Amino acid sequence: MNYIDSFRDPAAAGALRARLQTLGATLAGQGRQARIMEVCGSHTMSIARYGIRDLLPPNVALLSGPGCPVCVTSASDIDAMIEMIKIHEVTAFTFGDMFRVPGTHSSLFMEKTYGKDIRVCYSPLDALHFAAENPEKNVVFIAIGFETTVPMTSVIIKQAYKKKLKNFSVFSTHKIVPPALGALLADKEVSISGFLLPGHVSVIIGSAPYLFIASDYYIPGVIAGFDAYDILISILMILKQIKNKRAAIEIEYKRVVRPEGNPTAVKAIYEVFETQDCSWRGLGMIAQSGLKIKEIFAEFDAKILFPVKKISSKEPAGCKCGMVLKGILKPDECGLFGKSCRPDNPVGPCMVSSEGTCAAYFKYLKLQD
Ligand code: SF4
Repeated sequence: MNYIDSFRDPAAAGALRARLQTLGATLAGQGRQARIMEVCGSHTMSIARYGIRDLLPPNVALLSGPGCPVCVTSASDIDAMIEMIKIHEVTAFTFGDMFRVPGTHSSLFMEKTYGKDIRVCYSPLDALHFAAENPEKNVVFIAIGFETTVPMTSVIIKQAYKKKLKNFSVFSTHKIVPPALGALLADKEVSISGFLLPGHVSVIIGSAPYLFIASDYYIPGVIAGFDAYDILISILMILKQIKNKRAAIEIEYKRVVRPEGNPTAVKAIYEVFETQDCSWRGLGMIAQSGLKIKEIFAEFDAKILFPVKKISSKEPAGCKCGMVLKGILKPDECGLFGKSCRPDNPVGPCMVSSEGTCAAYFKYLKLQD
């Protein structure tokens, strides 16, 4: 397949559907079910957009996991960034989705309506350039995302260092994916028989960091692309492994992902950041799963420059995002879904984010009134 249209071709998808149904029937004959988790918000959206669930055999279920960076940012991190903005005189830059996520008492959006200087940006470079042009302002970039976005944050911190900027810093909520998968597999509440592994993250880290999933837990994983054909064939690859009682990490998204990833980008990450224990919404504290700015770049660490007292953080009342992020609950099993929680009035982050599971269900599976 050379052109993107091939990956969206209905005839190719139809043929794959038939193969999936046959394989599903074989597994059903062995009394087996498959629970496959996608751990990327873009996969969640593609699965909903292409109606992939409707093409699967009845004994194959797709679960959404903790793949949306906004959704897994803990209430305590959101409260801390809001406190920083309330207490200190800063100009904060962030991506649009983070803007509306509710913390315990407020959100960045609400703080902006109260007069705080909070701006939405499309690139961290916007924040860096603003800082260079406005030396009288303390500019903080609120950094969010997994391995895909961290190299860019590293680059801007190194640029700020080179330019000797004294008014630019980063509030890091960056996280890395593999430890979260380990936490899910160790969680007795969660039942997973295969992983659709994230394509974008894997462009950076390659396949090696996932090998423990197959070797330690005997669970198959396939690094998948984002079109209908990519997702269907990746599910087929997982089901074949399950049928053959095999567990390996395979790459379907070979047109983009190499086993070794992008070593230059990984080097860029760990020149500036080091791992630390980190709290994820729904998954709790996960060892060495967060990225903090190294001491050598401490002058750009907003958490050091603008300290805040820890406040007692709470999840929004009635919101089940934590269980949705672990694949234990589907969005429409939350009592607030489509009632008090909708994209125009979201209660939890999974409805705010454009990659959130609840937003995907609402947009594609539950049609609005
Ligand atoms: S429907 Fe809304 S309140 Fe319920 S889990 Fe999803 S985001 Fe949270």
